[in-house]
Amino acid sequence: MKYYHPLLLTPGPTPVPEQILHATQLPMVGHRSSDFESIAEEAFRALKPIFGAKNDVIILTSSGTSSLEASMLNLANPEDDIVIIVSGAFGNRFKQIAESYYENVHIFEVEWGKAVNVPDFIDFLKSLNRQVTAVYSQYCETSTAVLHPVNELGHALKNYDPSIFYVVDGVSCIGAVDVDLERDQIDVLISGSQKAIMLPPGLAFVAYNDRAKARFAEVTTPRFYLDLNKYLKSQAEHSTPFTPNVSLFRGVNAYAQLVNEEGFEQVIRRHYAIRDALRQALTALDLNLLVDEAYASPTVTAFIPNSKEELNYIKTELKKRFAITIAGGQGHLKGEILRIGHMGQISPFDILQVVSALEILLTEYRNQSYIGTAITQYTEVIKAYV
Ligand SMILES: *Cc1c(COP(=O)(O)O)cnc(C)c1O
Repeated sequence: MKYYHPLLLTPGPTPVPEQILHATQLPMVGHRSSDFESIAEEAFRALKPIFGAKNDVIILTSSGTSSLEASMLNLANPEDDIVIIVSGAFGNRFKQIAESYYENVHIFEVEWGKAVNVPDFIDFLKSLNRQVTAVYSQYCETSTAVLHPVNELGHALKNYDPSIFYVVDGVSCIGAVDVDLERDQIDVLISGSQKAIMLPPGLAFVAYNDRAKARFAEVTTPRFYLDLNKYLKSQAEHSTPFTPNVSLFRGVNAYAQLVNEEGFEQVIRRHYAIRDALRQALTALDLNLLVDEAYASPTVTAFIPNSKEELNYIKTELKKRFAITIAGGQGHLKGEILRIGHMGQISPFDILQVVSALEILLTEYRNQSYIGTAITQYTEVIKAYV
């Protein structure tokens, strides 16, 4: 049977809506022209409510990792102490960047699949007995599908020492969660284009408060392309310091329009409804969930097949027979878990397809009928939403 509509359910890149694709294909304009200035002005401003930021959001033409790197080079001086919460592959990425530039890097390890325990983390900070400049955490740790308690962490951190800069990597959830820099006590919030913001890959975003902005100007760590002061200076003139990805800037504006049409609160609700329904469905398929309900991300769900062979069967057959792409695990969870991304322009009924396909595949593989069981559970949850 041939499927004509491939379904991309990886936790980035995500399917790009028609309207965004169209916007990115419009004829090129000069990046030093008034045409681009009006595109850029709109894009910087359009992202503010998505990031819960008062200042215009910086847009870098580079992948999400560049914003992780920029958030270090522009906040920490070479001799500063910085702390990184590592709970998965992307925490590790922060660690690798930090260790490329800094001597005094402290790592707080969290078991993969768990969320950071805030009181334990504050005890760890105290035990360091150092003046810490900045703390780095993921919001959603994509590799494990955990959503960290970013608000609780922000408050505890600022209560402990208000001078610490709190940096949050929201690459895999901004656009699908309720966030507010001031309320959540975040100084710098970063993201990328190809996940919940549903653009093609190629842009990175940096939201910041006034205190962080002042700090960017003081820090002496060498940097060139990622010197955020250059971007701030250009931004004031509705421009960028280097040639921007003009097409994707247009995509940002098309994205903002789609969010406005649906309503941002509704977008968030949709992501959580899909999360809840999918977790029910996977449980009905006798698949274990990696993450407790309290910390389950609304953008990606990780589950544990009964064996490595079953895992490979699911992943390969979904792709081969149903044209559905899901993701495996990363690091030591490779071969242990599968991850279904459900962020961006994903409807409850898109996910119904993977639930239905899983029923068929597990019925075959386990020689036990699951037909109708998971979709019933799924639809029971979704009906309250639609
Ligand atoms: C995808 C991702 C990144 C890296 O983004 P790239 O665009 O691949 O550089 C960083 N952090 C998190 C949490 C991610 O999910």
